Amino acid sequence: MRRFDLIIVGASFAGLACARTAASRGLKVCVVERKTDPGLAVRTTGILVKEAAEEADIPSHLTRLIRGVRLYAPNGKSTDHAAPGYYFLASDTPNLLRWMADEARRAGAELMFGTAFKGAEQTNEAVTLPDLALQARLLIGADGATSAVGRHFGLDANRRFLGGVEFELEPEPGLDERFLHCFLDSKLAPGYIAWAVPGIGITQVGLAARHGFRPDARAFLQSYVKRLGLPERRILARRSGLIPAGGTLRRTALGRVMLVGDAAGHVSPVTGGGIVQTLRLGRRLAQLASDWIDAGGEHPAAALAREAPKFGVKLWLRRGLDLAPPNWLWNVAFGTAPFRAFAQSIYFHQRGARSDSLPPERLSGMIDELKGEKEHERA
Ligand SMILES: Cc1cc2nc3c(=O)[nH]c(=O)nc-3n(C[C@H](O)[C@H](O)[C@H](O)COP(=O)(O)OP(=O)(O)OC[C@H]3O[C@@H](n4cnc5c(N)ncnc54)[C@H](O)[C@@H]3O)c2cc1C
Repeated sequence: MRRFDLIIVGASFAGLACARTAASRGLKVCVVERKTDPGLAVRTTGILVKEAAEEADIPSHLTRLIRGVRLYAPNGKSTDHAAPGYYFLASDTPNLLRWMADEARRAGAELMFGTAFKGAEQTNEAVTLPDLALQARLLIGADGATSAVGRHFGLDANRRFLGGVEFELEPEPGLDERFLHCFLDSKLAPGYIAWAVPGIGITQVGLAARHGFRPDARAFLQSYVKRLGLPERRILARRSGLIPAGGTLRRTALGRVMLVGDAAGHVSPVTGGGIVQTLRLGRRLAQLASDWIDAGGEHPAAALAREAPKFGVKLWLRRGLDLAPPNWLWNVAFGTAPFRAFAQSIYFHQRGARSDSLPPERLSGMIDELKGEKEHERA
């Protein structure tokens, strides 16, 4: 039996952020991941909001700066949104996860790829994974939206989801690369949006929809190509997955077992963005675990529960979005001042307040500056 302080199931954003910090703090850490390579079969678009970029100092060659959002109504009209100092990063997600794995390993964590969690037993002193002959003081389930660790220990499970599917296409130079292109369409993507992202070496085109609706990425691909007047591009790969949309789960720990990241519902029910929380809470959990193990601090589950997002208003908004306003209503509302303010606050959240407080001419000036830059580039 090999003994560790932490065994983490899942080598993705939450698990690797946790492993790196815990190992840096001197804990003996083992990560168990069923995939043979962390960059295989990624299930995310991999857009990082600015706050996520601030959680992990990611090498710049793995990301691309995106300055704003171009939002399209079902009738094809579009508005541009940005906020001073704010940005998104498109990422080379497979290599980002490989880099995170290398960082965790460099900090001293042991990574076991091609190894699935199948079950564990716990006593007052330790958690044991008998089939892998591993034992730890704490077992962390960072194993995603349908957590096997959570299921095994009877913890709360995500029950409400968005379903997302995306194609990786050959790069499309005609797509304005300063923007995330987001499309409102309640027929194709009820409850959510469709998107086109100028990624790194690829263009990512996909959509997500409320629970129970099967999103059709091919239908969107065709309408998107037509709408933007772009040529058809070869599909290189497909990504898909479930996005928890019911907010942070209540019972995410039992004794020496606890969940983090998608496994614990740490995903915004409105935007479906989870990377920022998984990085933040993965890292924070490692700090709390090391305080608990080394200094007899508070149980990490209790401390993490206080710091995890509650998503109160966002859960109400999710209910509203699930009603999927008909396309004609999007078309009517689109471009009105309240709708623009709503879009601004969804994409730029707390920064939205700052940009709202700007005089409107400053904000539109910024958008004009962005447009000006593009014209300059073309010239
Ligand atoms: C289509 C789609 C697009 C998205 N786009 C974005 C986006 O652009 N920006 C954003 O912020 N968020 C996005 N999200 C959400 C984001 O991807 C997740 O919030 C984030 O990946 C969660 O990270 P995690 O580490 O908690 O779990 P995951 O990334 O799901 O990783 C779980 C890991 O556990 C492993 N695992 C599972 N079961 C076992 C087992 N039994 N044994 C061993 N290993 C196991 C898996 O192989 C995986 O590596 C998207 C999600 C989807 C589905």
